Amino acid sequence: ADEVKLDPWGSSTIADYRKLFEQFGIEEFDAVLPDVPNPHYLMRRGVIFGHRDYDPVAEAMREGDDFAALSGFMPTGDPHIGHKMVFDEIIWHQQQGADAYGLIADLEAHAARGLTWAEIDEHARSYVLSLLALGFDPEEGELYRQSENRELQDLAFELGAEANASELQAIYDFDGETNISYMQSVVTQMADILYPQLDEPKPTVIPVGPDQDPHMRLARDLAARMRYFGVTEAFASFEAQPEERPLLRQAYDAREEYAEDPEMPRCGEAADWLRDHEPASADARESAVEKLTNAGKEPLRPRTRIFDRRATDAAFEALIEAVDGEKRVYDEHVDAFDLSQSEAEEIARQVELDNGGYGFLPPSSIYHRFMTGLTGGKMSSSIPASHISLLDDPADGYGKVKSATTGGRATAEEQREKGGKADECPVYELYAYLLSGDDDEFATEVYEECVGGERLCGGCKEQAAELMAQFLEDHQEKRAEWEEKLDELDIDLDT
Ligand code: SF4
Repeated sequence: ADEVKLDPWGSSTIADYRKLFEQFGIEEFDAVLPDVPNPHYLMRRGVIFGHRDYDPVAEAMREGDDFAALSGFMPTGDPHIGHKMVFDEIIWHQQQGADAYGLIADLEAHAARGLTWAEIDEHARSYVLSLLALGFDPEEGELYRQSENRELQDLAFELGAEANASELQAIYDFDGETNISYMQSVVTQMADILYPQLDEPKPTVIPVGPDQDPHMRLARDLAARMRYFGVTEAFASFEAQPEERPLLRQAYDAREEYAEDPEMPRCGEAADWLRDHEPASADARESAVEKLTNAGKEPLRPRTRIFDRRATDAAFEALIEAVDGEKRVYDEHVDAFDLSQSEAEEIARQVELDNGGYGFLPPSSIYHRFMTGLTGGKMSSSIPASHISLLDDPADGYGKVKSATTGGRATAEEQREKGGKADECPVYELYAYLLSGDDDEFATEVYEECVGGERLCGGCKEQAAELMAQFLEDHQEKRAEWEEKLDELDIDLDT
């Protein structure tokens, strides 16, 4: 059933999301889907519709390399079926081999939403219980509260040194009245996003709703800003081990020959620097001359690649080591050596890492669609009938589904004739996002029966309501089991 691709969303919804692709550079998930081994049903069904830089995560999954997944929950109320999607995304990545992290954003809840610590304690516990009940493995993964995590706060402090107030103001609509702890909770959140890479850089995915994208952009930006640390030290380390870099030598030697060429100002700079610091070996010089003779047959322009790729990269690496880390010089060299921005960033990252810096990889993200509220419109925690809490009594959950808005026609007759509008039906969404689980065939069947007029809303809702009540019952049983074991786990849940 893997090849079944549902398209349960109307074109108008797609158009809304398209803006995100165009304006913010979020990419369509479909493009990366074939590279994901055993994609989750939310991926297969297009509920996860977008991503930013997910390719390295998919690659790590395929290759069995280290990668991580992290998401945070602000404990402002009870976890509901919208949160379940994010729980599932974390758990699925954990099952695919990720280091998985679930964090409670208690500092944010306190600073941004004004919750008391007693309220936060209660909700924090509840989020953790649902995450565990849905399958998070606490032995393999890490659960933490922001306020209890010292390493996280140290990292937040470092990241805060790279951000400034007017920037946060622009991104988050802060103004002069915004309290300082709120800003602190933002840098803490940036630290959360980079936290899985603290010991070792690795591809990291943050599953979020599209409204969280500004956090991702800032975190990616801050990760890059950390990269300019340690460049001076990198220079020293390069000098200490020149023999390990024969290609670099060649590249330098070759560039030296062009030092006089007014078309190649950057190469001239490289050569000047090299002359001052490191006489080339005879062999390297010879090989460079050979390369130059070959290259000389072609007219040379500043952006022409004349050496093999590794040599160019290595040369660039040494150049950023040689400069004092100023962004301006960095950009000029990116230009002079015709590297793509990401290639150049990768080199800079390596330099930083070699020298005791963080070497963060830009964090990746995936974006899921929001569930429609059961009453139509947005699903909102503040409108109980619009959502189903994971703590709702199964009978209440049943009742909410039974009273949900549908995409049905005015009469049964019309429905048989024209079919229902599953694309616009919150009940269908429940099937696709939750009730069908991994069973694509079942989800497809519901969809096709609906649009084909074979399925009527009364029976359809009855079936959904029963499945929902069953889900809630099972989930709450598992929560109760974890409740008993929770104290044995090494998670600091109370303030
Ligand atoms: Fe929605 Fe089911 Fe009615 Fe179709 S039949 S519109 S899926 S409730």
